[in-house]
Amino acid sequence: MTAGEFAALCVRADCTLREALIALNDTGRGILLVTHPDGRLRRTLTDGDLRRAALNHVKDTSLVSELPEHPPITLGTDASYAQGMTLLDRHVIDHLPILDATGKPVDVMFRRELSQRIWLSSPHLGEEETAFVADAFKTNWIAPLGPHVDGFERELAAYVGVGHAAAVSSGTAAIHLALLLLGVRPGDTVFCSSLTFVASCNPIVYCGAQPVFIDSDAQSWNMSPVALERALEWAKREGRLPRCVIVVNLYGQSADMDTIMPLCERYGVPVLEDAAESLGALYKGRPSGSFGKIGVYSFNGNKIITTSGGGMLVAEDAALMERARKLATQAREPAPHYEHAELGFNYRMSNVLAGIGRGQLRVLEQRVEQRRKVFERYRDALAGEQDLQWMPQPSGMRSTRWLTCFTLLGADAGARRDLVLRALERHSIEARPVWKPMHQQPLFGGAPYFTDGGGDVAAGLFDAGICLPSGSNLTQEQQDRVIEQLRRALALAKGRRAAA
Ligand SMILES: *Cc1c(COP(=O)(O)O)cnc(C)c1O
Repeated sequence: MTAGEFAALCVRADCTLREALIALNDTGRGILLVTHPDGRLRRTLTDGDLRRAALNHVKDTSLVSELPEHPPITLGTDASYAQGMTLLDRHVIDHLPILDATGKPVDVMFRRELSQRIWLSSPHLGEEETAFVADAFKTNWIAPLGPHVDGFERELAAYVGVGHAAAVSSGTAAIHLALLLLGVRPGDTVFCSSLTFVASCNPIVYCGAQPVFIDSDAQSWNMSPVALERALEWAKREGRLPRCVIVVNLYGQSADMDTIMPLCERYGVPVLEDAAESLGALYKGRPSGSFGKIGVYSFNGNKIITTSGGGMLVAEDAALMERARKLATQAREPAPHYEHAELGFNYRMSNVLAGIGRGQLRVLEQRVEQRRKVFERYRDALAGEQDLQWMPQPSGMRSTRWLTCFTLLGADAGARRDLVLRALERHSIEARPVWKPMHQQPLFGGAPYFTDGGGDVAAGLFDAGICLPSGSNLTQEQQDRVIEQLRRALALAKGRRAAA
């Protein structure tokens, strides 16, 4: 609903029933908002109200103000989606006007819209997945391991141009194994990007090691090489260099690997690339996830391709990936009986899910193009908005735009971010704040944190940042709905803050 369409829903009480009927018919929303002369909401007027008036022989030349009064059911702009749903259900109504602090209507929640939720990033299957899964059933390779696991590993390794791969049950499991393979032991420290999902660093704690968090660079939102260098200098002075550095490639975009890799080499610290969000992205033509000693991908349901749940390690070192597979299958030693010399895990991917992965891999390039198009559509449609800035894509990079993200500019961005998110939620659009940085999480309270010496970039991105629905299967209609509601939400948030 555009601002113009919303304005057309508002009528004055001194209009006639016939005029109201025409407005209801033209707007096609089943509801009008009848306002006082000062703009406050007086009542709502629905198809049902006019039908009852006609049955009671009220003339269509009568004024709306002559109808029997009934106080409208409304909500404030601070109300949540759940509160709105509760009211709609309790009163068995289909529309709910949203009023600002002065009682003026600024928005309407529609039940019809609420039942057509737009998700942040939903799974998008291609045409070949079912054939691979059917093959797994037909050949009875339902148990973990099997030809699709081998095939998926081979095909993904070839796609990202790395020698070897090991398929596991999740991206988190892949990071856990990668840390063990890089020799992380209790008492060690591991550096990690602060602006990320918690799964990047939880495995540090699984290993009994301690995380040290590194701030983002404002130009890529990824690990700041300057902050990293400061942290490495500090660690060297302390005589406690980290066992490895987890570099996260956020929201479909690679970190600045040409600066980070030589820096880590100079200190002799290996890099684990968390490319869970960046499969399909390129850095100067080279696939994201192929730079570190080990790279990790995720096939969780919200990622660019999915096996419903799954992960993958990649490395040039064949022995390393052989060891990953062994640790992931309870660390069984080669023997006819069950022989165990070290601690293992049950982390392998099943043959059925690997079949889905093989099908998904065949449409990955398409998915990248589709997500990039969603971003371009948002960017072009909202080009007139002054107070938002899209996540920058530094030159030489191909971001997959796994999620389309932006930050609000100007004072009060944090308060406006919350207002925008709530407004989108009222229209059943799933948008999210940018990741809350790990150094701000109670779970990691007290962990050292390094910025580049200037401000806290990650905290600022969290404060002002929003991720929009970005799935490769979003229809044009759904994208238009996001664009229209975002435009209205931005205006609403700006007005609210200006009035406050
Ligand atoms: C999704 C994600 C993971 C974890 O992957 P799962 O497959 O969900 O375990 C790790 N790191 C980042 C940055 C992620 O977005």
